[in-house]
Amino acid sequence: MTDLQPVRGTRDLIGEDQRRFHRVADTARRVAATYGFDEWMTPIFEDTRVFARTLGETSDVVMKEMYTFDDRGGDSITLRPEGTAGVCRALVSNGLTQSLPQKVFYAGPMFRYERPQKGRYRQFHQIGTELIGPAEPLADAEVIACGWEILQALGVADDTVLELNTLGDKESRDAYRAALVAYFTEHQAALSEDSLNRLDRNPMRILDSKDEADRRIVAGAPTIMPFLTDAAAAFYAKLQEYLIRFRVPFRENPRIVRGLDYYGHTAFEFVTSKLGAQGTVMAGGRYDGLVAEMGGPMTPAVGWAAGIERLAMLMEAAPPAPSPVAIIPIGDAAEATAIEILQSLRANGIRAEMAYRGNVKRRMERANRTGARAAVILGDDDIANGVAQVKDLATGTQEAVPFAHIPSRLR
Ligand code: ATP
Ligand code: MG
Repeated sequence: MTDLQPVRGTRDLIGEDQRRFHRVADTARRVAATYGFDEWMTPIFEDTRVFARTLGETSDVVMKEMYTFDDRGGDSITLRPEGTAGVCRALVSNGLTQSLPQKVFYAGPMFRYERPQKGRYRQFHQIGTELIGPAEPLADAEVIACGWEILQALGVADDTVLELNTLGDKESRDAYRAALVAYFTEHQAALSEDSLNRLDRNPMRILDSKDEADRRIVAGAPTIMPFLTDAAAAFYAKLQEYLIRFRVPFRENPRIVRGLDYYGHTAFEFVTSKLGAQGTVMAGGRYDGLVAEMGGPMTPAVGWAAGIERLAMLMEAAPPAPSPVAIIPIGDAAEATAIEILQSLRANGIRAEMAYRGNVKRRMERANRTGARAAVILGDDDIANGVAQVKDLATGTQEAVPFAHIPSRLR
């Protein structure tokens, strides 16, 4: 057991990585709260049926990426590959389908068996919002505005554009699907095997193919626009009006279909040019049928999810390492007083540390190495006078401060 490494596609988050990660989740949580979202935590594994049918049997996630296993009791369990299905399951399980709207924020790990590369892991993490209940395009716009504000708060909005599309209503999609089948059938000789499989079952999925050859054919495929019913076209127009009201810039992209089956009407992705092939940082849409799939009533809903790792990579500067105050007793007799001061600083919310051994020189070295901003030095004479030497380690200035004033001096 000498060479244990993290499992392929998983990572340890330590130091700067962890601080970036934390900043993303915290910022998102804070902004989402101002929009009225409450955080839910659902289990990271669920009955396989929560995902298998609802995400779409032809989706990449279900076909190739799920971590599914039988547990010791023989039940089929899946590590969640995304957050929306679990939130909808929870809405139904907790009897909340009559208490709408529900505005849900979540943050946590997701699992997909994918080929690991930059910005693509097997355990990754998402933040997400779900607005469950309203059928109005105002809800779609609000959810998108919340996402946009999170990107702004993280300082990554400048590198990111919102690409917007509509998938219409069922009638629009049925008409569009027929047109796509006709088009792709004409070109089927050049399609990948995956896409051939999708041709009968879910031709829209071919638009999302990452295969090079597929993409060339996709470029000439019809868009959904001429197939939209009046109602679907009106919904899409209204959404765009609202986005302008919310001051969210966007660009229409008729190729955005999303990888999962449950979307209708709104589909969108926030895309950056800075992460190569892993350019989508936040993605979502409207999924009016999903709650019903979980055994609840027909319930409109819209939401998005964003990859924390990708957002953390885009953030310019990492949050700085915290810099403590170092308590430095001179000699054993000073230790008791040093512990008093150490704890009074902590009680005042100040990060404070005292080394476990070592002479003054060693302790000062350690203080500098850990990036301490100040040292509180305690000698016997000072203790007799009720003061400590507080040294500012950035400027080098030092001054005697009465014990009671040390916390306020260092805050
Ligand atoms: P992609 O096209 O990159 O595979 P996706 O369509 O599968 O993305 P979604 O299911 O919409 O992604 O998930 C939303 C977001 O979660 C993505 O935009 C991305 O930021 C992040 N994400 C998805 N899969 C991974 C992964 N394997 N590793 C890291 N982040 C991921
Ligand atoms: Mg994917």
